[in-house]
Amino acid sequence: MPSRIAPERVAELFAIERERFADSHPVSRQMHEEAAASMLSGVPMNWMTRWPGDFPVFISEAKGADIVCVDGHQYADLCLGDTGAMTGHSPPATTAAVQRQLDHGITTMLPSEAGTRASRELARRFGVPLWQFTLTATDANRFSIRLARQITGRHKILVHNWCYHGSVDETFATLVDGEVKPRFGSIGPPVPVSETTRIAEVNDLEGLERELANGDVACVLVEPALTNIGIVLPEPGYHDELRRITREHDVLLIIDETHTFCCGPGGYTGAHGLEPDLVTIGKPIAGGVPAGAYGMSDAVAERVLEQTIWDAADVGGIGGTLAGNLLSLTAIATTLEEVLTDEAFNRMIELGERFENGVADVIREFDLPWTVTRLGCRAEYMFSPTPPRNGSEAAAAFDHDLDALLHLYMLNRGVLMTPFHMMALMSPATTASHVDRHTEALAEAAADLTAGS
Ligand code: PMP
Repeated sequence: MPSRIAPERVAELFAIERERFADSHPVSRQMHEEAAASMLSGVPMNWMTRWPGDFPVFISEAKGADIVCVDGHQYADLCLGDTGAMTGHSPPATTAAVQRQLDHGITTMLPSEAGTRASRELARRFGVPLWQFTLTATDANRFSIRLARQITGRHKILVHNWCYHGSVDETFATLVDGEVKPRFGSIGPPVPVSETTRIAEVNDLEGLERELANGDVACVLVEPALTNIGIVLPEPGYHDELRRITREHDVLLIIDETHTFCCGPGGYTGAHGLEPDLVTIGKPIAGGVPAGAYGMSDAVAERVLEQTIWDAADVGGIGGTLAGNLLSLTAIATTLEEVLTDEAFNRMIELGERFENGVADVIREFDLPWTVTRLGCRAEYMFSPTPPRNGSEAAAAFDHDLDALLHLYMLNRGVLMTPFHMMALMSPATTASHVDRHTEALAEAAADLTAGS
């Protein structure tokens, strides 16, 4: 969907913002140049250079919902480490527990009480009773897929078009003219992705039925609402049908709550009473300490245990030396018990509404052909006049230049948005003034973008 904003105006404003950014961030520039001697592209992961501007911001401090860069600028952090810091940075209860634990063992390959506390809380919230731990959401997905293959004896998985579930090989696929193709930019796929993966658009029940009818799908792995290609909400009744159809084909349903945890204490699953076979999660559950988890129903657990070859359980492809370490488990238990509480979610969701309303007002005032969508304490505006119905529509609404401009515009006014789309997340440490700083900057951007039109 083309935006009414003239591309020439976007380019003109981008040049102004780029210069302003460079002038006001000399120390970041210098640090980036120095870092290039010992890190590929001068950053720990080279996608970090995709932040708009000629170099990324180097951080000196992150606390609560604020970040300070090495040039001394303070930012309202609405990115929150792309959900890794949904608790706010360094939440005091988690850091105190982690600091205590640091002096009493970090990793042992043995269980501890923290694991029981963490899993009990996850089970209560997400409704699946039995949990295992990893260090990332990616691994939680990877291991769940392996288990699904093992217990169903089928080799393919099905995902939504334009999904993202971490660096899981099988998920780097999109539909091109109805065929499963490697996603643009996919690095070194191990096998052609059409051998491992089937795809249906979210909200396309016919497509889902058609693909599952092939009889080779072990599991459907989905976010309950897409969040990684813009937010795309499921239509009323979609989840009921998804559950009915997966059951009918004896296909396991894995719900990835890593981002949709923003819907409430039990994520989208808890908020909407979903009945998945497995739930996967990671990112903020340990307050920013690396940790992931996957939970399963009693029925799945029974099938897993029946098929476990105990003599080789440590080398079966599921695990990891550091998975379930003392530090991560302590951090999960404390974060769930004391930080991401029911009460905290109420406040976070209220702020999400404030963000949504502020953006909607700007869209209305400047008559922008955009839309804003909220999912609990997360909200996003997209460059199409109506909410996208599926991943393809969301991908088509993407406007790279406008997105880059707005990110830089926000950075120059002390607001950090989630990279690669205009998404904002609220933490327990976020305040109305963080949200309003963004709304004011957006109104200024809208005035600049529409000036003279
Ligand atoms: N699942 C979803 C829905 C995600 O958005 C992501 C990362 N953005 C992941 C899994 C993977 O998380 P991680 O990179 O921390 O493993």
